[in-house]
Amino acid sequence: MNYWKQTGIALVTASMLVFSAGCETTGGAKDDSASTQKSDKASKKAADKKAAEARNQDAVGIEVGEMSSIRTMVPAEELNASANQQYQALLKEMKAKGALVPASNAQAKRLNTIAKRIIPFATRFNPEAAKWKWEINLIRSSEVNAFCMPGGKIAFYTGLNDALKATDAELAMVMGHEIAHALREHSRAQIAKSQATSVGASLLGQVVGKGQYAKVFDIANDLLNLKFSRDDESEADLVGLDLAARAGYDPRAGISLWNKMAALGSGSQAPWFSTHPSSSTRAEEIEANLPKVLPLYEATQKKSATTKKK
Ligand SMILES: [Zn+2]
Repeated sequence: MNYWKQTGIALVTASMLVFSAGCETTGGAKDDSASTQKSDKASKKAADKKAAEARNQDAVGIEVGEMSSIRTMVPAEELNASANQQYQALLKEMKAKGALVPASNAQAKRLNTIAKRIIPFATRFNPEAAKWKWEINLIRSSEVNAFCMPGGKIAFYTGLNDALKATDAELAMVMGHEIAHALREHSRAQIAKSQATSVGASLLGQVVGKGQYAKVFDIANDLLNLKFSRDDESEADLVGLDLAARAGYDPRAGISLWNKMAALGSGSQAPWFSTHPSSSTRAEEIEANLPKVLPLYEATQKKSATTKKK
């Protein structure tokens, strides 16, 4: 998630915008079976299947496969709780340094508006997101960075907008990308994989099975430093594109965003170049997928034009 990172941390001010996720849920599968036990594994599987079917019925939009099954070795609730703890600790630290941008700040308001437009579509990619307690905060820092931790805890650094002079649609692309990592549970899978290799799958089963998550969360403690695979990055680009388009942001901004990133990166040795596909590859991939997401965006424009006429 940290590939937006460009420079070292140099944090300066802050604040907090909180809103709830489930308020305006659209997209995703219709939940006719709300009365069934949601915590139950079978119903969870059925919900996943239902969401997948709903996705495939769409003529347009980005289709995704099943999420990595290894991720289930790490319990989601504990991971989200751990992410929340880290997030609140970060906010506290930033606040103490005067680096938490107040909610009344124009940039903070702008990000909050974008998040509110995107989040209602999150359940299309992960039905669990309806239960997440979403938060977004702006941190004053020269770092070109943004992230969304498991469970919907988002932060943007002022350095990102300062460096990119991003349009709303470009910011929506970044936000969609980061939210996509959380929805597709890339961190969870990443942690499970690390555990499987370092501790051994059987031991992990034992650790998790007994409800002793100490080892797992040694790694989870460093959530912000996890590195995602190229596949995860590509998936986040495309899922983010889908989310932003449904929210009414022109997906062509994905291309201009990566062009700006490329211009920025070549002279600055941005770390994402070493661990991720180059910006030009990403822009090409986004361009190839535009036919799938442009109709989503265009539909929102027609809708708002009709509403304005009335
Ligand atoms: Zn990413």
